[in-house]
Amino acid sequence: MTASLVPHWINGAHDHGTSDRSAPVFDPALGKETKRVVLANAADIEKAIASAHAAYPAWRDLSLARRQAIIFTFRELLNRRKGELAEIITSEHGKVLSDALGEISRGQEVVEFACAMTHMLKGSFSENASTGVDVYSTRQPVGVVGVISPFNFPAMVPMWFFPIAIAAGNTVILKPSEKDPTAAIWMAELWKEAGLPDGVFTVLNGDKESVDGLLTDPRVGAISFVGSTPIAQYVYETGSRHGKRVQALGGAKNHMLVLPDADLDLVADSAINAGFGSAGERCMAISVIVAVEPVADTLVEKIVSRMKTLTIGDGRRSCDMGPLVTEVHRDKVASYIDIAAQDGATIVVDGRGIEVDGDPNGYWLGPTLIDNVPTTSKVYTEEIFGPVLSIVRVKSYDEGVELINSGAFGNGTAIFTNDGGAARRFQNEVEVGMIGINVPIPVPVAYYSFGGWKNSLFGDTKAHGAQGFNFFTREKTMTSRWLDPSHGGINLGFPQN
Ligand code: NAD
Repeated sequence: MTASLVPHWINGAHDHGTSDRSAPVFDPALGKETKRVVLANAADIEKAIASAHAAYPAWRDLSLARRQAIIFTFRELLNRRKGELAEIITSEHGKVLSDALGEISRGQEVVEFACAMTHMLKGSFSENASTGVDVYSTRQPVGVVGVISPFNFPAMVPMWFFPIAIAAGNTVILKPSEKDPTAAIWMAELWKEAGLPDGVFTVLNGDKESVDGLLTDPRVGAISFVGSTPIAQYVYETGSRHGKRVQALGGAKNHMLVLPDADLDLVADSAINAGFGSAGERCMAISVIVAVEPVADTLVEKIVSRMKTLTIGDGRRSCDMGPLVTEVHRDKVASYIDIAAQDGATIVVDGRGIEVDGDPNGYWLGPTLIDNVPTTSKVYTEEIFGPVLSIVRVKSYDEGVELINSGAFGNGTAIFTNDGGAARRFQNEVEVGMIGINVPIPVPVAYYSFGGWKNSLFGDTKAHGAQGFNFFTREKTMTSRWLDPSHGGINLGFPQN
């Protein structure tokens, strides 16, 4: 049987393109290829960009009220039919259905925020900046923008960007991950149903060739990228060199600092949720617990007893955690358990060979807990992106913060304590972009902006919130004087008053 082929979405319709290349799409809980996705060639990339470029002038000039009405409709359709999208996500990513619904809801919040574009796009006006001279500014769209997204949030991450970009009058080309591309096509169909004109939202399926096409084409004005750090850095440098504005969000290694006065039951619950939710394939997952002694032994006990209650299996059944996205990724994550043992860490719970409620061929790896992880080990220094939780024991708050600040990433972090002074010091001293205080996954709500520091974000603008509108618009400032016969004359200096 030939696997079905996931096409592009160009000019308001499915488009199978002209490329003879394709990539497998797996159902991770079944452990088999269920579809293939087309990988664009140069002609497909050209067709996608040309369509988005042609749609831009009319979309940019459509009234705010009419644009807003379309986005409201998209929100209503999404809200009503998000169950369909969740099933698609689970079948290609593997996360459990409730988690897939959760990511859609977080994306929907950005759609709701984008409806406020009538307010966010207001300019400013200063009357009589100089006598008879007015100065005012407007925000105009950038043009065609590219959104390049990772596998782990096939709906939410694209929605961090495209609702705001579209609301601001841009046209968008989404290049989703080739591992789970169908969510993007489903959202494109929904836009059409909501009344979005053809060409305003395009899905270009592909790999490096498509990304390079977007990064180098002069008709593309801005790039929003989310993915691993090496690719984020490449995208930032290449796009910037080609004159685009680029925001490139990279990888992470998020620490949870636990002070001795913390509520250890809350910490243990939070560590389980943030370490093993979505099988640890979240950029805001907690991957390292930094335990300030003497809490570590008690904490390990509490975490282990909770790990015993977790059910692992097919995300369509009522399990806590699903499989990893591919066999290759599962094997890579599992290899860190051997590295940890070689480096002298203590494997407290080994997730290999666990019992699952699902097909034996699925890409399974159970929750894994590793204690006494040396900070020189790759298990500590590298992003693992799986259900592997490390514990590093430190003697003091200062040692813990120094450790966190010495890392290459700066996406998210959390402190658990009942001491307000310590929490306040932490939020001031820690060099990370998003901070949780007794909150393990501090993902900002849509009207704030999402993004890390250091190797977790290249560029100076975060996703969504006010920064999203700034990124997808350019400010234009006018200085005007309407002729008045009583003013004039020659003056070679700057106007003074
Ligand atoms: P990835 O870097 O492999 O892929 C991301 C995108 O880049 C995909 O669309 C992919 O097709 C494309 N790509 C892959 N190789 C490329 C190349 N050589 N040249 C150009 N483009 C290329 O990332 P992934 O495995 O899909 O996602 C997981 C990563 O994303 C993790 O590192 C995770 O931390 C990160 N992530 C970060 C955030 C954040 O907000 N900082 C959010 C989600 C995921």
